[in-house]
Amino acid sequence: MSESVFTKIINRELPASIVYENDKVIAIEDINPQAKIHLLFIHKEATKNVNQMTETKPEQLKDIFEAVLTYTREQGIEEDGFRVVTNINKFGCQTVFHTHFHLLAGEQLGGFS
Ligand code: AMP
Repeated sequence: MSESVFTKIINRELPASIVYENDKVIAIEDINPQAKIHLLFIHKEATKNVNQMTETKPEQLKDIFEAVLTYTREQGIEEDGFRVVTNINKFGCQTVFHTHFHLLAGEQLGGFS
């Protein structure tokens, strides 16, 4: 599998606006924001999508959501609220095949109904 754009960011081969990092997870600003705050939480060890992550590296789900918990508490985002979304394959509009979780926040988001 060729290196994803996110692996290049993790390895500092490409620039990015990094807002959070620990030994397992990195969070960056999305280059095409869909909300006032639009971040991507990415595990440093690549899998293709959340189904592959769940099947092969389930511990990574905890790593990701612990990072989300830490970041949203530290930044005071938790109380107002936020959305976490992950896209899978064609109908889900996944474009980068290195599992990532979009965090949308900073304003009232549209509902589903
Ligand atoms: P998805 O369509 O769910 O695979 O999401 C991929 C996301 O990565 C999109 O929202 C893109 O805007 C974002 N993206 C692609 N390249 C970069 C980059 N170099 N830095 C930050 N975000 C990126």
